[in-house]
Amino acid sequence: MPFKFKTVEERNAYNRRAMRRWRAANPEKARAANLRWRRAHPEQMKAHDFKHNHSERRKAWKMANKDALLARAREWAAKNPEVNRASHVDERRRMRKEVFDHYGGKCVCCGESNQWFFTIDHVNNDGADHRRVLGRNMLGHKFYRWLRRNGYPEGFQVLCFNCNCAKGFWGVCPHEIGAEEKLRRRL
Ligand SMILES: [Zn+2]
Ligand SMILES: [Zn+2]
Repeated sequence: MPFKFKTVEERNAYNRRAMRRWRAANPEKARAANLRWRRAHPEQMKAHDFKHNHSERRKAWKMANKDALLARAREWAAKNPEVNRASHVDERRRMRKEVFDHYGGKCVCCGESNQWFFTIDHVNNDGADHRRVLGRNMLGHKFYRWLRRNGYPEGFQVLCFNCNCAKGFWGVCPHEIGAEEKLRRRL
């Protein structure tokens, strides 16, 4: 049999790819055809739980094709370094803002509100211990991502560089009430 498909699955997959290509090339026609089908099949439309079905199936498909998807994403990133970098920068900027907003959006010590001064401070000065647990390079965006992933745990606050450095260096920020006394003792 001079036929290029060995199995029905193979043929279906080919047809699906061809349809996808056609839909991408003819978006208006595809939309019109979709609408026609929906209007012609009101019963199916009512019976079908689109959102649930779609997201569940998609999730399962993604899990089953995890390695291939990851490889494809890496390949794409390597081919499009500029776009990739730009989207990473955007994502990091968004994440940074989200984290700082969550922890109050200004320096808890002096009220500095210019975000470019912001750092995340370990309230109990256990940053070094924390990094030993999480890994030495848990800094910057990696640290912000960790905070977000872990539901913004307690024990962190926004400090500006000035207050954070002073607190790290002297053990107390000079802005704090009663700091003078402590600072004198340190000298
Ligand atoms: Zn400050
Ligand atoms: Zn301060």
